[in-house]
Amino acid sequence: MAQNSVKLIPLGGLSEIGQNMMVLVSGEDHLIIDCGLMFPDHSLLGVDIIIPDFSYVLDKKITGIVITHGHEDHIGALSYLLKELKTPPPIYAPRFAKALIHRRLEEAGLGKVKIHQTQEGHVLHLGKFEVHCFLTVHSIIDSMCLLIKTPAGTIFHTGDFKFDPYLPDHQEKIKKIGEQGVDLLLADSTNIERDGSSLSEKDIKDNFDKIFAQEKGRIFLSVFASNVQRISHFLELAHKHKRKVYLDGRSMIGNVEIARELGILTKTDMIVSEVPKSPRSIFLITGSQAEPYASLTRLAYESHSELKLKPNDLVILSSRFIPGNERAIHKLMNNIAKQGARILYGEISDIHTSGHAHRDELKKLHQFIKPRFFIPIHGEIRHLHMHASLSAEFLPEKSIVTAYNGDVIELTQNSLKKINHIDLTPIYLDHITGDKLEPEVLRDRRKLSETGIIIAILVCDKKTSSLKDVYIYSRGFFSKEKYPRIFDALEKEVYALYASHQNDTEIEELIRIGLRRSLKQKDLKAPIVLPSIIKI
Ligand SMILES: [Zn+2]
Ligand SMILES: [Zn+2]
Repeated sequence: MAQNSVKLIPLGGLSEIGQNMMVLVSGEDHLIIDCGLMFPDHSLLGVDIIIPDFSYVLDKKITGIVITHGHEDHIGALSYLLKELKTPPPIYAPRFAKALIHRRLEEAGLGKVKIHQTQEGHVLHLGKFEVHCFLTVHSIIDSMCLLIKTPAGTIFHTGDFKFDPYLPDHQEKIKKIGEQGVDLLLADSTNIERDGSSLSEKDIKDNFDKIFAQEKGRIFLSVFASNVQRISHFLELAHKHKRKVYLDGRSMIGNVEIARELGILTKTDMIVSEVPKSPRSIFLITGSQAEPYASLTRLAYESHSELKLKPNDLVILSSRFIPGNERAIHKLMNNIAKQGARILYGEISDIHTSGHAHRDELKKLHQFIKPRFFIPIHGEIRHLHMHASLSAEFLPEKSIVTAYNGDVIELTQNSLKKINHIDLTPIYLDHITGDKLEPEVLRDRRKLSETGIIIAILVCDKKTSSLKDVYIYSRGFFSKEKYPRIFDALEKEVYALYASHQNDTEIEELIRIGLRRSLKQKDLKAPIVLPSIIKI
């Protein structure tokens, strides 16, 4: 390793939108930026969350973990990392993220871990790294971007960000950071596919002002519970239009509580604790992604114990449809429509804006920062490549490195290049137990869902070992009643295979293979076969 060089190792977030985690290495010192989780799509049966493979850092000297903001894809894996580290390294997070992390750590039995609060202009001295924290604009309050001074040069990490035309001071600040000289830019690529600029949060508020004024009936408003800026606007507007507000959904109630305690939400006078009877009420609820058990999902499927949609209620999804969730959301909306309620969502009305910069905003960022080198971050592989080609308008190609999770990139005073790769295995977790789900478990689940299972029970004589009876049961496969011939054939096969066997382990394996083979020969999908020998 060249003297004074710094290595960057993305452990997550550079191949997907989610599980963001970047490691910066200088000599012995390791600095971690963000430690997030990802929610899987439906193809990962029963996996609740995915977290980065952070085994690489477990035996390293971690000089600090700096969190940019409180979204799950930036904080959600922290409790799992801390459980695996012997002593917690110093952790830094801005106000709202700190409160969310604290709640999370308490739930994980790590309530004693101290989190230091970062503020605008804070400078953190973390080993060989000097981290300057600046507030930025994003869809969650207290979001930071980081200017990191390292022995190899200055790195600017945008965190998740956007520009807002109504917040010129923020743009000025980013411009000034650029004027000080940035060697390497790491920038959010989430919205690289979107042209132009994102709407301002103020535009959204103005549109809701009109809706709240015009609507005669009840409004069910689903929004990400972490977007307390927007929730705060809703509460202001409810106050203005004298509409009562009822909160529903665990994270909505929890986050509003936290934001209230921190003094982020001030106009809370319209919040009521009983379901309001007035037709002019507003229900602030969870479930914009059709998450199972969320408030809107239960309303849509008429399984909510307290609330029920009525014809002419207005249901608003003030959020984007996260890729992978579209089908579930469409189904949810169909069920809402069936009950006679009207629906508004981002695709047909300006009631949502993204927290991530669109293409024109990203161009502006490149013009402001004028880095010597660039790595696109926070995106799926195509996003990273698109962002790299956009940056080619501003930088020579050799100054841009498109890297993925596990790549080791080296920054020196005059170069940026990939020098190595670490193989990573994403970790699949069961949310309730927090236990890892091994790849074999997932393979079995997929197989079970596609082909079902056959259980063959062999009853043998304890003394003579002769096979007395064979019972074949199935689930998710053809039924025995309707297709007795298939089952008769399988039974015969079991008798034949048993006759040729040496020991129990061998016969189980023979039956597993034999039954699958004979079904395949009949052009049937071969299910999982589970033989079991009982001796009586
Ligand atoms: Zn975010
Ligand atoms: Zn993010």
